[in-house]
Amino acid sequence: MKNRIKAGIAALSAISLLLVGCSSGTSKAAAMKDGTYDGEAQGHNGKLKVSVTIASGKISDVKVTDNIETTGVCENAIANVPAEIVKNNSVSVDATTGATVTSSAIRLAVQNAIESNGGNIDAYKANVETKKNDDQTLDCDVVVIGAGGGGMTAAVRAAEDGAKVILIEKNGQIGGDTVLNAGTLIATGSKFQKEKLNETNDSPELAYADIMKVGLNANDPEMVKMITESIGETVDWLVDDMKVPYDVAATQYPDHSANRQIGVVGRSPVFFTTMAANFEALGGTTMLETKADTLLTDKDGNISGVKATDKTGATVTINAKSTVLATGGYGANSKLLPTTLGGYMFYGRSTDMGDGLTMGEAVGANTINLDCVKVYPQGIETMTGRALAATASSTAATNGHGAIYINTKGQRVVKETGTLADITNATVAQSDKILYLLMDEDAYKTYVAKSLEDKLVSSEDDINKWYDIKNDDKPVITKGTDLSAIAKTMGIDADALKATVAKYNSDCAAGTDTQFQKESPTAVKDGGTYYLVEQRPRFCTTLGGLKADSSIAIIDANGKAIGNLYGAGSVVGGGNGKDSMTAMMNSWAIGSGRVAGDSAAEHALGK
Ligand SMILES: Cc1cc2nc3c(=O)[nH]c(=O)nc-3n(C[C@H](O)[C@H](O)[C@H](O)COP(=O)(O)OP(=O)(O)OC[C@H]3O[C@@H](n4cnc5c(N)ncnc54)[C@H](O)[C@@H]3O)c2cc1C
Repeated sequence: MKNRIKAGIAALSAISLLLVGCSSGTSKAAAMKDGTYDGEAQGHNGKLKVSVTIASGKISDVKVTDNIETTGVCENAIANVPAEIVKNNSVSVDATTGATVTSSAIRLAVQNAIESNGGNIDAYKANVETKKNDDQTLDCDVVVIGAGGGGMTAAVRAAEDGAKVILIEKNGQIGGDTVLNAGTLIATGSKFQKEKLNETNDSPELAYADIMKVGLNANDPEMVKMITESIGETVDWLVDDMKVPYDVAATQYPDHSANRQIGVVGRSPVFFTTMAANFEALGGTTMLETKADTLLTDKDGNISGVKATDKTGATVTINAKSTVLATGGYGANSKLLPTTLGGYMFYGRSTDMGDGLTMGEAVGANTINLDCVKVYPQGIETMTGRALAATASSTAATNGHGAIYINTKGQRVVKETGTLADITNATVAQSDKILYLLMDEDAYKTYVAKSLEDKLVSSEDDINKWYDIKNDDKPVITKGTDLSAIAKTMGIDADALKATVAKYNSDCAAGTDTQFQKESPTAVKDGGTYYLVEQRPRFCTTLGGLKADSSIAIIDANGKAIGNLYGAGSVVGGGNGKDSMTAMMNSWAIGSGRVAGDSAAEHALGK
């Protein structure tokens, strides 16, 4: 009898265990002991680590404990993806748009934590169904499409002018490409320039001449005039009214013929946190993961707002008196890019699809310079087809330190302290489109320090990892005390390189660079460790776009403004011609954004 009771209790226990398992949807998870487990996975920039807490067989907490993902891009994914995993007790949750690699890394790291500690991941992989939101219709004075530098500035300015503003952004975080840059601007004509840079010889005319020269006169003169005449006021507004912490830029690049480069302390992420707070304080509304699909038109063909889709697939219709396109460039869209970029590395964001260009063209906007793409030098292919933008590090290493650019033939090919355009031109002139930066120990220390200062890498360890990266069987960086040996490792003509270094060093000893007339050349020190790092052409910024007038209203093929439509940032072409000076893309985005914000608000409010 006792045994029958025992057997009955055992059967009941088994059933109740099964019931507990079924009700939680984690029948096999019951086998996972409660506790906290660590896991890791490869993120966008390096290892991402998580700790996962299991309580009563369910995922009760996920924390990202360590990561080196990109500031300004990863934060919302790091906040939202773990919370969604816990909420759904499942790793099958959606990625945060614009941070898909970080999102996947979090999911995989959680999976690894469970599996490597004996759990069955199938119990934590239930499908998560996204409930579609109701479609909605909103009204405002100004809708701004895209929350990068151009859009954020336009939105804040229009709100400050008194307009009711809605800012929509397709990514899960504001910032666009802009958040990745150093936050530099030209300060021509500002009070700030006179006081902090002690520069009194700059003028809109001088900046105009510089921009046209670098743009090879392919610029739209009206755009260049507009930006050079207004950027001073924009800078003073940002500093005095918006309280964005600007200072003199750490590097004054030599393509500008006056001291005019300033930068945000803390780089562009600080620009966005400051401007987003201003926007909120001014009553603006920001809608993330809301992708603009088409511009709406009224019966007369004027733009009356935008139709967008939210993350759940619901339609968001925004009726607006003014619409500002600020969707950035088309560097990630091979269908829109010229074919001349084969073999160059992309370094922008995969969401740079040219949506605004397509939407603008669909309503009859004219375009300019669509074949022009900004190409930079000094990229390192740390991921296949993608470059790390190591320009500031290379520039620092070549300024007053023993470092020279050489080609695969072992020849020196450019004045190291020349403009970035000079270095780009020298790079793309090589048949294999690659240069190498040869550094002595002192130059390398500077290279590493600048990379850390600019957060190009999060630690020297990251640079050390480059030594293991090989593309086409060649490392991206190498070092050694034997110059010939490291030249051979990189596939460089070793004898020619030795001769090049000997000639350069004898020039340095004599005090004159007979080859490229570099001022005060510094020798590449013999006898220590030499470093060679690849320098590849890289691109992301497109220079062409929609055509605009001086109030930055988008115009059609007859030069007539399309009613109620404005543009800001890279979606508008012509400001920078065939090439752009350093700091000019960010200056264009933010400077045109302020003008667009004013124009859109004035129009909407009937001022
Ligand atoms: C790594 C890096 C470094 C750089 N360094 C410099 C530098 O030192 N100096 C310099 O001058 N320039 C630099 N640039 C270039 C410069 O950052 C850009 O040219 C400029 O920021 C572009 O600003 P934008 O507002 O036009 O576009 P973005 O900042 O890209 O913003 C566009 C926004 O629109 C959103 N969007 C697009 N389509 C839609 C849609 N359909 N619906 C809703 N939203 C949409 C995008 O997601 C994005 O957030 C750099 C760029 C990169 C990537």
